[in-house]
Amino acid sequence: MTLRAPKVGFVSLGCPKALVDSERILTKLRATGYDVSPSYDGADVVVVNTCGFIDSAREESFGAITEAMNENGQVIVTGCLAGEAETIRELHPNILAITGPQQYEAVVGEVQRAVPIKANPHLDLVPAEGVKLTPRHYSYLKISEGCNHKCQFCIIPSIRGPLQSRPIHKVLREAERLVEAGCQELLVIAQDTSAYGLDVKYKEESWKDRTIATRFYELCEGLGELGVWNRLHYVYPYPHVDEVIPLMAEGKILPYLDVPFQHASPSVLKNMRRPAFQAKTLERLEAWRNICPDIAVRSTFIVGFPGETDEDFEILLEWLEEAQLNRVGCFQYENVEGARSNSLPDHVPAELKEERWHRFMKKAQQVSSNVLSKKVGRDIEIVIDEVDEEGAIGRSVWDAPEIDGCVFLNGETELRPGDRLSVHVTHSDEYDLWAELRS
Ligand code: SF4
Repeated sequence: MTLRAPKVGFVSLGCPKALVDSERILTKLRATGYDVSPSYDGADVVVVNTCGFIDSAREESFGAITEAMNENGQVIVTGCLAGEAETIRELHPNILAITGPQQYEAVVGEVQRAVPIKANPHLDLVPAEGVKLTPRHYSYLKISEGCNHKCQFCIIPSIRGPLQSRPIHKVLREAERLVEAGCQELLVIAQDTSAYGLDVKYKEESWKDRTIATRFYELCEGLGELGVWNRLHYVYPYPHVDEVIPLMAEGKILPYLDVPFQHASPSVLKNMRRPAFQAKTLERLEAWRNICPDIAVRSTFIVGFPGETDEDFEILLEWLEEAQLNRVGCFQYENVEGARSNSLPDHVPAELKEERWHRFMKKAQQVSSNVLSKKVGRDIEIVIDEVDEEGAIGRSVWDAPEIDGCVFLNGETELRPGDRLSVHVTHSDEYDLWAELRS
């Protein structure tokens, strides 16, 4: 499996409207994990955004397609010239796909079909399902690459290198473009989102009419001005994270934090070499809930890390009961090629890992069921993700796409993906909510 992101070459022709389309396609491709190649040589696939408005533009477009076919051979055509698909196919029968103007989702879909991103659970931030074309109404926003930590089970720092934060004005511009293209929810991702800017010493950049530091708080504040849902993933419980909780209480950032705690026993966390392993996390959670009572905290955990004793595991279960997290995922520890934890002593036998995983999931289910039952009877805001013949499937502010729960609206077949509305919660189970439109 290749560890590098597939590269897309891009030829943009035509008027400013076509250029905006090109920007949107590129933004979407970057958000879904593709790199852009400046040359035909380095590209795994080439997109030609054409113009057919006047004869000279038409000729230029045909010329660009021919050049891309000769130089690369893996070509997707989009834009105004799609009206002449038959002629294009006669000239170039091996063209991969032709899509019309402003069909940016279709173009991104064709790129994903031609050079799919293979999900790697040990490296990817986006869930395997999330690598599929994200609908127009939500997008991943990657703010940095790499990581400065040395968690024993993780190979990311050795593959992706140390933390490299993207300049804040570029991240905010990308966010703005996504919003202009119809995105209503930004999912902020990085290996360690809360470390944003540390590597560039919080460098100041010009943004609009002001100067803004490349820093976690300023990023959240900037995103909060866009008027869309902003959801924070992969945040570590550093003290400065407390500063963004008031932005959640004010409605600028969603009341949602994805904090990969991984464990609760201090000795396991120390063996894992987790960042902020000494943080008093229960006190932290309480402080966050005091500022923003509606905050949802999601997390992932590893059971059966080498050296995890029965006592460590009991500490984890008790912590889970007390923490009352909204959503949790749990993995059984596995060796990953190249990880330092492989050579740690006292690996936990497979049956014991399995047993601990089942006990963990049972407890997590009880907690989730309890947390969700408290939403019944409330009016909440949701966004619609899917509509089928049975009704609409939405998500609340407490649920990220692909990894958290749903809000089902039975019989509501007239709604559209991306609709944001207020609903009345009528029922809950271990993972999901059911609701009705407010009359
Ligand atoms: S914080 Fe730890 S687990 Fe996360 S990317 Fe860095 S080294 Fe890996």
